[in-house]
Amino acid sequence: MSRLSIPGSGLAKGLAVTLRTMTRKTVTEQYPDVQPDLAPRTRGVIGLFEENCTVCMLCARECPDWCIYIDSHKETIPAATPGGRERSRNVLDRFAIDFALCMYCGICIEVCPFDALFWSPEFEYAETDIHELTHERDKLREWMWTVPAPPALDPGAEEPKEIAAARKTAEKLAAAQAEQATQATQAAQDASATEATPAGPDDPQGGEA
Ligand code: SF4
Ligand code: SF4
Repeated sequence: MSRLSIPGSGLAKGLAVTLRTMTRKTVTEQYPDVQPDLAPRTRGVIGLFEENCTVCMLCARECPDWCIYIDSHKETIPAATPGGRERSRNVLDRFAIDFALCMYCGICIEVCPFDALFWSPEFEYAETDIHELTHERDKLREWMWTVPAPPALDPGAEEPKEIAAARKTAEKLAAAQAEQATQATQAAQDASATEATPAGPDDPQGGEA
């Protein structure tokens, strides 16, 4: 079915759009005098929480730009018990990201199994020397201070395993400390009661100081 076109309707529509745009309030971002209001999940820069990194190399392997550089060495940990087995662990020597190559895809953050990488909304790190855009581990750690706190859990959500385990450990520790404190108080009370008891005539000490 062909549509009936009124002559000049296209022109009227075009003018309506023009008029609407002309009367709309213009918005000018006053950056850098006023900081932009960024979304919480803005991809500005990547922060490294080094303590969580096990040097598994997954992020470096999955990065499509090959812009994550990791160096490490192995360290032997002596056996915890006599006759036990020695263990070895990876120790991080270098962790760097070249933000001149990074395309901010977020794959490294997604694949990290140990929550060692995070997005920070910080974006003011332009450099005049491209080499400076390779951020080494100390600089990557500094970005962690600008990572926003995670959103709150849904009210009915199950408690995360890590938090549940930490809570149980803290509760056990508190109970053990309370038990120790009770025993110490009881022992102190027993000792003062013994001291307060007057010496009898048969007391070999004879009540002498
Ligand atoms: S965001 Fe993407 S490109 Fe950038 S370091 Fe991570 S995996 Fe590589
Ligand atoms: S994936 Fe995570 S734990 Fe593994 S090397 Fe990268 S940052 Fe470290």
